Amino acid sequence: MVTDRTFWPALGLGLALALLSGCTVNPITGSEELMFFSPDKDLELGQKYAPLVEKELGGRMPEEGLQSYVNRIGQRLAGFCQRPDVAYHFAAIEEGGANALALPGGYIYITRDLLKEFKTEAQMAAVLSHEIAHVVARDTLVAMSEQIGMTALMAAAQVGGSPDLARGTQFVTAVLTLQYSRDDEKEADLAGLTYMTQAGYDPNAMVEVMQILEKLQMIRPIEFFSTHPSPESRIAYLQERIARRYASFTGLKQGPEEYAERVLAPLNERKKRFNLPPQEPGRQEARASVGPE
Ligand SMILES: [Zn+2]
Repeated sequence: MVTDRTFWPALGLGLALALLSGCTVNPITGSEELMFFSPDKDLELGQKYAPLVEKELGGRMPEEGLQSYVNRIGQRLAGFCQRPDVAYHFAAIEEGGANALALPGGYIYITRDLLKEFKTEAQMAAVLSHEIAHVVARDTLVAMSEQIGMTALMAAAQVGGSPDLARGTQFVTAVLTLQYSRDDEKEADLAGLTYMTQAGYDPNAMVEVMQILEKLQMIRPIEFFSTHPSPESRIAYLQERIARRYASFTGLKQGPEEYAERVLAPLNERKKRFNLPPQEPGRQEARASVGPE
């Protein structure tokens, strides 16, 4: 696929070229891509900006049992990807609509509003697998470099200590409004499908996730509600891949009991205890009201 990244060298980014770390192979597609960042830089970026992104999204959910469950499933799935050496971090966060996102370096988040839509462990595993695939392919880095420019991205990685407010805000805004390419999303869907099935989950749960997202009809995605590819086309290629590759697989896990116990029960408990709706109405409505009905 030809994308903007192919043309970086022609853009004459002197600084970037000077620090060029060479060609790397995207382990998902097998294609060679010019990457200006070494994987160490991914990690530096993630470490530096993860706290800011978490803060912007209302912080981590306080339920420790739920957090350790999300992390445990995530770590298990990551063991089946092409970059199991990355130190992955999985966390459930309070805000951001019904969504999931990945930062460079292995920081993966799933929001409370998305968790509460699911019924099974396999559905959550599908989303985490999709995000792991973005980390493996370094999609976030590529998309961000297209959005804020390679020079700004490199400067962000190089800043010593904690990032200043202006830089932090720029990075967080870029992450939260990121649009991946249609091809990147499809690759992440299909690679994620492989990881979750290898980990023993029913791949049909990925289709169920797309159906759930379709029903939610949210506008203005951070990540999973990306308007491209459409949920219908995602469902079509996922079903095609499942029929071709996994039709003979039986006895794969859905895990509704585990999910009810570890995720849905604590969410209900919270609702009862605080007698509050499970989201801050002002913020969510503001996001959801952008665009046509
Ligand atoms: Zn994605």
